[in-house]
Amino acid sequence: MTQKPCKVLIIGGGPGGYVAAIRAGQLGLETVLVEETAVGGTCLNVGCIPSKALIHTAEVFDEASRLAGDNPFGITAAAPRIDLGKAVAWKDGIVSRLTSGVAALLRRARVRVVQGRAQITDGKTVQVTGADGAVETIRCENLVIATGARAQTIPTLPFGGDILSSTEILALETVPKRLCVVGGGYIGLEIGTAMAKLGAEVTIIEAASRLLPLYDADLTKPVAKRLAALNVRVLTDARAQGYADGQLEVLIGETREILAADKVLVTIGRAPNIEGFGLDALGLDHNGRYLAIDAHCRTSMRGVYAIGDVTGEPMLAHRAMAQGDLVARVIAGEPVAWDKRAMPAVCFTDPEIVTVGLLPAQASDAGVAVFPFVGNGRAMTRDRDDGFIRIVFVRETGLVLGIQAVGAGVSEMAGQFALALEMAATLTDLAATIQAHPTQSEAVQEAALKGLGQALHI
Ligand SMILES: Cc1cc2nc3c(=O)[nH]c(=O)nc-3n(C[C@H](O)[C@H](O)[C@H](O)COP(=O)(O)OP(=O)(O)OC[C@H]3O[C@@H](n4cnc5c(N)ncnc54)[C@H](O)[C@@H]3O)c2cc1C
Repeated sequence: MTQKPCKVLIIGGGPGGYVAAIRAGQLGLETVLVEETAVGGTCLNVGCIPSKALIHTAEVFDEASRLAGDNPFGITAAAPRIDLGKAVAWKDGIVSRLTSGVAALLRRARVRVVQGRAQITDGKTVQVTGADGAVETIRCENLVIATGARAQTIPTLPFGGDILSSTEILALETVPKRLCVVGGGYIGLEIGTAMAKLGAEVTIIEAASRLLPLYDADLTKPVAKRLAALNVRVLTDARAQGYADGQLEVLIGETREILAADKVLVTIGRAPNIEGFGLDALGLDHNGRYLAIDAHCRTSMRGVYAIGDVTGEPMLAHRAMAQGDLVARVIAGEPVAWDKRAMPAVCFTDPEIVTVGLLPAQASDAGVAVFPFVGNGRAMTRDRDDGFIRIVFVRETGLVLGIQAVGAGVSEMAGQFALALEMAATLTDLAATIQAHPTQSEAVQEAALKGLGQALHI
């Protein structure tokens, strides 16, 4: 057993933990990062990046299938076939490039990465058990909990065999013939849509009365329409009960139905990793089921910080990264605090949904201006004019409170929405900003003009 005091010890090498470690190292703090599996965490290894690789593969396949049939471009192509194993290998290559890059950045920042499972002894001491069973005790001045979250299970549908979490489905080497997706949130919809494009018969089972229940119906309607076009069956007010011999029992309202399914993907949410590594002994305050933190990512124990998914919603990689950067600066003594106005969220569904700031229902007295992509030349030339841009604003001042979009490719507009909110932009600012023609971004300017009562193209 060895004793190694350090300034910062971070448990978990996901987007929260590795960014905290790099920044702490850059700021000259002696930093140790403990990671049980692979640096990059959920996001790089089994989450954001692998899912987007699958989505891209499915989009290419879907487009190729379209070109094999009637299409407006005058193109005739052969019907495509998919070797999902090859696509998974391509995805693994991207993951490997990214995780090696993170490892190199950690080395450059002089962060010591310790591979193993951390067990907290007290607020200043952690024991790490490596894969070979060797145990190292590390002492620290500051402890950062960045242990992330895991897929939540349904007791009657435990993971294993044909019941998959997002991790297993993203590694499948063949497309399942019949796939049931339990949970119509963004993860289930992103993967379900991709599998439908790749040829699976997909059924989505959602307990709420509609898909993506956190968003309003206007935003989700284009997604529901596209799912219908892809022959995805959507069951709402429905609960999966159990699975045996390729049959999933579902309760839809009061009606029991048996669905044939080769694979069942369960995506009913994610639970914070706060158990099983000695954290309970610290007696930290909780905010619901998450660790409670203040604007400096401090927990209720001095010298113990928490960042990322363990601290609650929105459980997003970019939030974890921003907290990681902040916590390192706080520990280094910089006068900083969490003061973000904008937290963009993207559903990489088809079409994509972007939300930043307040939805209309969250700002009841606010003005709302919408510009549909049917009035946008670039959307038309992409042959995807479904969806719209929507701005929520203070009626008296024009201050922008929220911007949402649904449409093909709108994820790349998340940045300008976030910037507008972060800079406290008004409708006048957005209307006065020249957008390149022809781009879908012109719809932002148009929506702002509409909010000002000066619409041009509608
Ligand atoms: C399928 C899927 C798609 C997603 N897509 C997106 C997306 O498009 N955009 C987005 O913003 N977010 C997305 N997310 C969410 C995103 O992955 C998380 O918000 C993000 O990874 C959280 O980062 P984190 O650092 O808090 O935790 P994590 O990334 O979960 O990392 C935590 C790390 O801690 C390690 N760990 C846990 N306990 C211990 C221990 N005791 N000892 C040592 N190590 C430990 C784990 O091995 C893990 O590597 C997606 C998630 C999934 C599952």
